[in-house]
Amino acid sequence: MTFDEFNLDAALLDGLQAMGYKKATPIQEQAIPTILSNTDLIACAQTGTGKTAAYLLPILHKITQSNHSHLNTLIIAPTRELALQIDQQIEALSYFINVSSAAVYGGGDGIAWEQQKRALESGADIIIATPGRLISILSAGDVQFKHLQHLILDEADRMLDMGFFDDIEKIISYLPKERQTLLFSATMPPKMRVLANKILKNPTQINIAISKPAEGILQQAYVVYETQKLPLLKSIMKNGSFKSAIIFAGTKEQVKKLEIELRRTNVNLKAFHSDLVQSEREEIMRAFKNNRLQVLIGTDILSRGIDVEGISLVINYDVPGDAEDYIHRIGRTARAETTGTAITFINERDQPKFFRIESLIGKEIDKIPLASEIGEGPAYQPELKRDKPNKPNGGNKSGGNYKSNRFQKKNRTIYFDLS
Ligand code: AMP
Repeated sequence: MTFDEFNLDAALLDGLQAMGYKKATPIQEQAIPTILSNTDLIACAQTGTGKTAAYLLPILHKITQSNHSHLNTLIIAPTRELALQIDQQIEALSYFINVSSAAVYGGGDGIAWEQQKRALESGADIIIATPGRLISILSAGDVQFKHLQHLILDEADRMLDMGFFDDIEKIISYLPKERQTLLFSATMPPKMRVLANKILKNPTQINIAISKPAEGILQQAYVVYETQKLPLLKSIMKNGSFKSAIIFAGTKEQVKKLEIELRRTNVNLKAFHSDLVQSEREEIMRAFKNNRLQVLIGTDILSRGIDVEGISLVINYDVPGDAEDYIHRIGRTARAETTGTAITFINERDQPKFFRIESLIGKEIDKIPLASEIGEGPAYQPELKRDKPNKPNGGNKSGGNYKSNRFQKKNRTIYFDLS
């Protein structure tokens, strides 16, 4: 389905064209008409499905048609990273329309807070906020959402995991009862149903099933302390009887570091990252395809699109950002009916993230005991509360994957997918 079939404002369609979106994703096909018809919505869809644009497009369209747009829409997101990402998508999508947005989150310096406060007081059309910061703003009474039309909870299951249930209820007590509420969540645990029953009115429900990893992949994991990862990787590389392998790490810096460390093990390997020029990348890919190179190390830019037959081993040195990335990464092995092994290293902080991946793919992955020379690792207790929420890998979108090109209004930068 193309976007012109939704009857969206023509200037929004121009924005979509500039971003290179051609066809609506399944969640967009289902959610956009529902949201345009002012119905509440509960959508089970994870990152990577296009869920952000699925709610932003109809909301931006409605704002363009509205005569009172200030503080029109409130989006609550679990983390500062996600809030900023949503803000960036708003900037890109609204490039040709006159809509303002502001991300409001805790943890910044005094200057950032002053800027956020000014944006609120002057009445941006869309506010994207993390729960903690929003509570302090609402309790201080400086800002009132009297004219709020839309409330969106994004990654609601993550907010519940992080203990924000009461905060969300409190925030909602400050908002007008007459509003449209949209709840997006990757999973639907029972507590989410409780929340949904409290805050949504006769919602339409949408479930977007996620893809599953290929059957031929043997999936395993090691539960480790961060310091044990490198010795473990080296020992797998030294003892490995694999034909070819890809090692995925969360950041470019990590990829470069691993290349230096692993060179000492005499494995025939190369790092693949965006600092290499195109000709270098092509040469590395050719060498890997022709089996002149046994091991490739890279970030998620490697996980999309490369079609090399017969990779026997995939190692996730860091837990990927979300289930979709996990499936893409491990899908590099066991192609064309062959079998392969995918091993993930899970440090203590990444345990909740890995648990979410297991829940989403509906499978508990075998945890392999560590060899004695690596030492004892931590227990797998993903539901244990930890001091800090997980910081996503990469530092770009949550999970560090660019699935398509991005188009940023403020600094006029265009990022292109490298996959
Ligand atoms: P999300 O699930 O919202 O995190 O989106 C995942 C990625 O898909 C983001 O990088 C979006 O920019 C991109 N995206 C969303 N909708 C589309 C579309 N219809 N066509 C191409 N890319 C899209």
